Amino acid sequence: MTVLTGDYVVVGGGTAGCVLAARLSSDPGARVVLLEAGEASGPRAMSSPDPLAAFSLWSTSVDWAYSTTAQPGTEDAVHAWPRGKVLGGSSAINGMVHHRGHPDSYDAWEKQGATDWNYDALLPFFRRSETAEGRDPHVRGTDGPMRIEASPAPNPLAEAAFRAAVESGHTPLEDGNGRVSEGVSWRETNVAQGRRQSAADAYLRPVLARPNLTVITGAQARRLLLEGGRCRGVEYTVAGEVRTVLADRETVLAAGAIGSPHLLLLSGVGPADHLRETGVEVLADLPGVGGNLHDHVTSYVVYGSDRQPPSSDQRPPTGPSAEAHVLTRSRADVAPDLLLLFAGAALRPRWTGADPGGYSVLFSLMDPSSRGTLRLRSADPAVPALIDPAYLSDDRDLDRLVLGLRLARELGGTKALAPWRTAESFPGADVQDDDSCRAYVRSTASTYFHPVGTCRIGTDELAVVDPQLRVRSVAGLRIADASVMPSTVSAPTNATVLAIAERAAHLMTGG
Ligand SMILES: Cc1cc2nc3c(=O)[nH]c(=O)nc-3n(C[C@H](O)[C@H](O)[C@H](O)COP(=O)(O)OP(=O)(O)OC[C@H]3O[C@@H](n4cnc5c(N)ncnc54)[C@H](O)[C@@H]3O)c2cc1C
Repeated sequence: MTVLTGDYVVVGGGTAGCVLAARLSSDPGARVVLLEAGEASGPRAMSSPDPLAAFSLWSTSVDWAYSTTAQPGTEDAVHAWPRGKVLGGSSAINGMVHHRGHPDSYDAWEKQGATDWNYDALLPFFRRSETAEGRDPHVRGTDGPMRIEASPAPNPLAEAAFRAAVESGHTPLEDGNGRVSEGVSWRETNVAQGRRQSAADAYLRPVLARPNLTVITGAQARRLLLEGGRCRGVEYTVAGEVRTVLADRETVLAAGAIGSPHLLLLSGVGPADHLRETGVEVLADLPGVGGNLHDHVTSYVVYGSDRQPPSSDQRPPTGPSAEAHVLTRSRADVAPDLLLLFAGAALRPRWTGADPGGYSVLFSLMDPSSRGTLRLRSADPAVPALIDPAYLSDDRDLDRLVLGLRLARELGGTKALAPWRTAESFPGADVQDDDSCRAYVRSTASTYFHPVGTCRIGTDELAVVDPQLRVRSVAGLRIADASVMPSTVSAPTNATVLAIAERAAHLMTGG
């Protein structure tokens, strides 16, 4: 059997794993091994700057192509959950929006027991991750690997959408990633020089030649090697061959909100009753593993049009067209919890595609109360886990999405957008009262692709990692990816995962 040894073993080469591998290997004395289940690259569409091109990557070799259990809250729909399976992970197949949450999102983590995890504590790591030219350097990064370029000038439809948001009362912001992020701003994207910039492009590819960094692709971790309460390394397979990598210092899981809890459960770390039921020997009874699963939920309003922006404006070759998004709140006394995103195309329900002409306003719940679980279907690592996000199981989520629908309609029906609109196509004029709006939301709500929370930071019994991201009751093992968020943030999650991983590398190297 092939046995390799590193100082650090990183499991998963996605958003977080690329940051960790690059930062940890910047010390030439530290041997770093990165295991990634997917391959080094994938279809050409992966480099396209057009977010809609991501649709064509789903269900290909670079996608785990998970699906949820039937969701009673959304009329028993089974939801497709794409997740990247390639260097760069989900950042290689995502919508490329670069957006931090509102400061309240991070301050909420500390209130839930994640000591010293708040906006101010994370700010240096957000800044370290990016280079955002022309922004306030006190809040935005000036020399980080993820380059944020100005989007091409907005087309006239996108400009009308920005004015529409102001017309419906949202404050115009210079920078939606600034300290004040409630209001309307131009979305930023992970596009540099006309190409998608995944975490692999930004962090990993520039350092691949380092002699102390070993990247093994096509390497699926199937079990952590636990001995005497300590993680010694990882058992993985490459092309059907079982191999072992040992970690002299630490193993860090960066396999994502699905992959990390799945690997812990397969390794006997999780709720003891559940592990026994599935025939896995219990090595550490950690009841929180796989719990607290939650996701942003989205739906949209679609308008028809007999007019389109000039064709030269529709698909700028150098990047995605600028689009406006709005962060707002469902009630004055809660943190911002609704995101409206304008799209200059008629989206088909539940991400089944988009048609040119018309426009859509997505409304997404950014602070869901519903909580679900990830559980083993089988002790066989090749069998996908059971994913149950329990969408809309908490009625408060449905009520807030109905309000989101009303706010999206307010924006979509403004005077500013009148020249671009014939009529509302979905949900349409018949859907007005609360009951029909609720029914519309239940029948159209879907993932916004941002699952988190399955290995959350905290200090209570259900926490999986402590505030230093060390797995409770297993030495030599940390987790640093989307799974550690105690609660999700009021933005798509990639920028936050970059900051979490930056901080993890800092903690692991004695910061
Ligand atoms: C379709 C889609 C659209 C999205 N749009 C946006 C957006 O526009 N903006 C935004 O901010 N966020 C977006 N996101 C979310 C964002 O991309 C994720 O939150 C982020 O990439 C998560 O990072 P991660 O490191 O936790 O996991 P991932 O990036 O998913 O990385 C996990 C990695 O671990 C690997 N892995 C898993 N299990 C194993 C194993 N057993 N052995 C070895 N390797 C393993 C995977 O192959 C993967 O490479 C989107 C996500 C998707 C899927």
